[in-house]
Amino acid sequence: MFEYKPRELNYSKIKTYKECPYLFKQKYVKGIKEGLIAASSLGVSVHRTLEAYHSTKSFNGILKFYNKYFISGGYQSAQEQMEYYLKGKEMLQEYALKDQERKSEVFSTEKEFIFDYKEWTIRGKIDRIDKIDQDAWEVIDYKTDLEPPLEFNAKESLQLAIYSIGARRYWNMKEGKASIYFVSNNTKASADFKDFNEEEVLEIFVKTGELILKEEFEPNLEHCQKCLLRNRCPHSSAREEIL
Ligand code: SF4
Repeated sequence: MFEYKPRELNYSKIKTYKECPYLFKQKYVKGIKEGLIAASSLGVSVHRTLEAYHSTKSFNGILKFYNKYFISGGYQSAQEQMEYYLKGKEMLQEYALKDQERKSEVFSTEKEFIFDYKEWTIRGKIDRIDKIDQDAWEVIDYKTDLEPPLEFNAKESLQLAIYSIGARRYWNMKEGKASIYFVSNNTKASADFKDFNEEEVLEIFVKTGELILKEEFEPNLEHCQKCLLRNRCPHSSAREEIL
């Protein structure tokens, strides 16, 4: 059941608020669902597949899990669904191949952290955590964009920053790195836990949380083009004609 918890923050909430405060209100205060599109549908399918794949430690089962967890919703036609299915299949086969070279041990998948900071509760769910050696860890977030960015500065990533802080605070993982894993081309961008200034990052969360508490939910029309609610939002500057 939907419940709005204004004192509870996570990376997705902060990201959404920065994109458009009104979008935040629709999603997190009113509980309106954005719905699936092709890219997000494939993203969920791949995430579920990787979770199952790593939990069994089987190098051979990845396509079996993909067929089990592939979501058919969110596509505009059977042809589009098949195109995305095949792209997902290819990226997962490559992933499994590359995974055979992995030196680290998968410690967990889809593991949640939670900690309190000042009057706030901060949570997050990490796609995968690897144990690199006795004292070092790697927290990993999968991205399934079909066209990953040419350059990605992991040290500037607020998501990796809060995951690093969560790992340190909640699991006492003192040493390690945080990585974005672009599944479509099997590349990684990483930053050391020490690259992030804990206080600065947490203050970004707190300041955004304070704006949310004050109910400052102005629409940001610059984001409408990318917004999944653009055809249902009264402020939208990017509504499409539905024929
Ligand atoms: S359509 Fe535009 S104004 Fe409306 S929620 Fe989306 S980004 Fe915000």
